[in-house]
Amino acid sequence: MTKRTGKEEEDMQIIIDGHKVPINPRVSKDLLITLKSIARSLHWGILYDTNRETVYINTKSASVPVPPHERPASSPAEAESNRLAGKTICIDPGHGGSDLGAIGPTGTIEKDNTLAIALLLCDKLEKNGATVIMTRETDRDVSMPDAETEVELGARVDIANGADADIFISIHNDSFTNPTAAGTTTFHYGHPESIRLANCIQKSLVEGLGTRDRGVRFASFFVIRYTKMPAVLVEVAFISNPEEEVVLASIDGRYKAAESIFQGIVKYFKV
Ligand SMILES: [Zn+2]
Repeated sequence: MTKRTGKEEEDMQIIIDGHKVPINPRVSKDLLITLKSIARSLHWGILYDTNRETVYINTKSASVPVPPHERPASSPAEAESNRLAGKTICIDPGHGGSDLGAIGPTGTIEKDNTLAIALLLCDKLEKNGATVIMTRETDRDVSMPDAETEVELGARVDIANGADADIFISIHNDSFTNPTAAGTTTFHYGHPESIRLANCIQKSLVEGLGTRDRGVRFASFFVIRYTKMPAVLVEVAFISNPEEEVVLASIDGRYKAAESIFQGIVKYFKV
């Protein structure tokens, strides 16, 4: 038996596509560099979480993997404010499970990006007192795999309406055949409060990400049409645009997107 001292003896976990590799090598810079270079050449996504000494690898796409969501039993130390107390906010990460959404030029996948942004946004909202309802917290279909579109989207609407949420925000990545198409758009279904929410989030996202302002627009998307509360669908940026794909699939870009949507929500509630 050896006593464990010092950081150099700490074990590192490696998680590939959600499965833990059954060996725990020691934390080593060389191993990390090797894993990163393998990931780069095979177009795998890789994320090293220093707090958990864990390497997450995603062999399905080049998107940075989304670590499993841990909801800590309210840790007051991390609380930032109470200004969203009493607000229930439904966040809908677009696509998931059998529905990949759009795919970027280097193989990053919309469903990964939307979930990552949504989880960061959820965390930020909860730290500021909000109650957050997520239509999904993992890579899954909300109804069932390969369900008809209206069944899948209906399941998302039911969650928001059932929770009697104050606002509903569906997060997506835009995509177009022409790779130069770029920018941020926020859609609403015409209700004045939805338009006001859309304006707050759109302005904040364009400022935060520095993207082209494609404006706030009317659209008859299922999830914003049938939800009973002010509802918007955000196309954060274009996954089909090589530069914006990097923003959507990187930790930094996802964080900025989540932070910007959060600021938009705060402005909407005037808190
Ligand atoms: Zn989408």
